[in-house]
Amino acid sequence: MRKKIVAGNWKMNKSYSEGLSLFSEVLNMVKDEIRGEQAVVVCAPYIHLNALSALAKESNQVFVGAQNVHQEASGAYTGEISTEMLSSVGVEYVILGHSERRQYFGEDNALLAKKVDATLKNNLKPIFCIGETLGERESGQHFNIIKSQLAEATFHLSAEDFSKIVIAYEPVWAIGTGVTASSEQAQEIHAFIRKEIAAKYGTEVAEDITILYGGSCNPKNAGELFAQKDIDGGLIGGASLKSRDFIDIVKVLNS
Ligand code: PEP
Repeated sequence: MRKKIVAGNWKMNKSYSEGLSLFSEVLNMVKDEIRGEQAVVVCAPYIHLNALSALAKESNQVFVGAQNVHQEASGAYTGEISTEMLSSVGVEYVILGHSERRQYFGEDNALLAKKVDATLKNNLKPIFCIGETLGERESGQHFNIIKSQLAEATFHLSAEDFSKIVIAYEPVWAIGTGVTASSEQAQEIHAFIRKEIAAKYGTEVAEDITILYGGSCNPKNAGELFAQKDIDGGLIGGASLKSRDFIDIVKVLNS
């Protein structure tokens, strides 16, 4: 059965103490809100991860994620963090290919393929982000962009490894802009992603993959988005920074 997930991406926000308070609030509020095949993931800045993982230890439905990782196992890469380091503090998920990493840090599909490999090798689950820019959508290239982001960074994997990935469709024009993809636009792309996965790995793998929507998702629009057949939850930026908003989005999984 497909896992439903609401994942928060705090980006470069929250001091250490603010992060601990926010996460504690989320943990407390989330307890009564999630069921069997559901998970909440909080992807925080590196310095928070150790403490958040310790807090999440008792929960089997709230997990901690990183927002990036280096592709090499260790070595002279000043300022970087490895998958093994993340695992060693109890991190379970890693966002890869976020459009901000692609745009500001030049991460391309070839590099992301290496990061995906490194992440899976250390038994971490990638939340792999794909999505088109406004220009790409307006010029009708969005399907091709999505297809190549997916294929070039993940279709070298075995079916077994591919099944461990969570995909997040995040149209770049909807991230942090307050403009959300309509539920029809999002569903159209999610169905397309599932079709591409089915063509490569078969229907069973495609039907089991969790595909999240991300881009200005909030408590008001989450209901309609998550009700779509191929949308299995959300990757939440701005609204994950307020515990009440984040939990209200989590609650939508059960409505
Ligand atoms: C994101 O950064 O992954 C995101 C979805 O941001 P926001 O919800 O703020 O658009």
